Amino acid sequence: MKNIKDYNLEDLKQELITIQEKPYRAEQIFNWLYKEKVKSIDEMTNLSLELREKLKQNYTMCNFKILKKQESSDGTIKYLFDVLDGNAIETVLMQYHHGKTICVSSQVGCKMGCKFCASTGIQFGRNLSAGEIVEQVLAVEQDIGENISNIVFMGIGEPFDNYENVMKAIKIINNPKGLEIGARHISVSTSGIVPKIYDFANEDLQCTLSISLHATNNKKRSEMMPINNAYPIEELMKACKYYIEKTNKRISFEYALAKENNDNLEDAKALVNLLKGMLCHVNLIPINKIENGKFVKSTNENIIKFRDYLNEHGIVATIRRELGSDIDAACGQLRRKNLKASEQ
Ligand code: SAH
Repeated sequence: MKNIKDYNLEDLKQELITIQEKPYRAEQIFNWLYKEKVKSIDEMTNLSLELREKLKQNYTMCNFKILKKQESSDGTIKYLFDVLDGNAIETVLMQYHHGKTICVSSQVGCKMGCKFCASTGIQFGRNLSAGEIVEQVLAVEQDIGENISNIVFMGIGEPFDNYENVMKAIKIINNPKGLEIGARHISVSTSGIVPKIYDFANEDLQCTLSISLHATNNKKRSEMMPINNAYPIEELMKACKYYIEKTNKRISFEYALAKENNDNLEDAKALVNLLKGMLCHVNLIPINKIENGKFVKSTNENIIKFRDYLNEHGIVATIRRELGSDIDAACGQLRRKNLKASEQ
């Protein structure tokens, strides 16, 4: 059965025409789904009983079940959601002074194979649909009884490897008649799938683009991120420059600092040279060591030195606060869970 949350407003209008219904019904349904946030078609009480029956015969609501919920001492909550096909995904809620942010997953597993990331090493499952991405927001909102203000596509999966569904989800999340979360409050992070960076630049969206850079030369970057073999740094930078020129928006470069790998002053110097003159910001992530991983966290001293070097040389850099590491909810700690394999 089709998931009613898989449609953005325009598509839902078209969809309703195919079942001989008036397109304006789509606005009413959208209102029930994303303003009233109902959990069943039966609750859509301004639709006739016949229409509700027809909708129920054709569409599911895809309400996720919480399989597990872990709360960190810093207020971060990690959810394990049943995505209704034997798989489970993780979604993280982070509580900041300026609001609530959720880190959503875009795929069941990930194909990118980054050596430092816990999503690697477990078989790839499938893409999440737009509705399954949106449902992560709705399910967390329902659980905490509050609205989410920011969304980051930094959970499990590579958003640009599931480009169409991610774009559709952004449209539903951003639409004033949908979840109405401003595009400036939505960030998409990519390991660097170059053709999709061009597409994203041409979308005319106000979302933030984050690029997982992590190294400044091809040898080191390919060792950390196999995707670099397909799209080396020169091509990645060219795409980033196109994005900045086209959108006039700042790119956020993520750089995970691993001890004796990419964290000395030579690396900082190379990073300054690479990014000089670009409209950008560097987000330094103290790397989270994964089980059997060879990359370990830099010392605090090196992290601070690295940041200071960048700032002193004209590159704005901040250190990402580590939230939820005690519940394995920090960057790179999320894993695909297969219910049948009872991994959780
Ligand atoms: N696939 C996307 C988004 C998911 S990961 C991407 O690669 O950008 C979100 C961020 O966490 C990325 O910058 C990723 O490189 C980083 N990350 C992954 N594993 C990490 C780890 N073990 N420690 C710190 N950061 C990590």
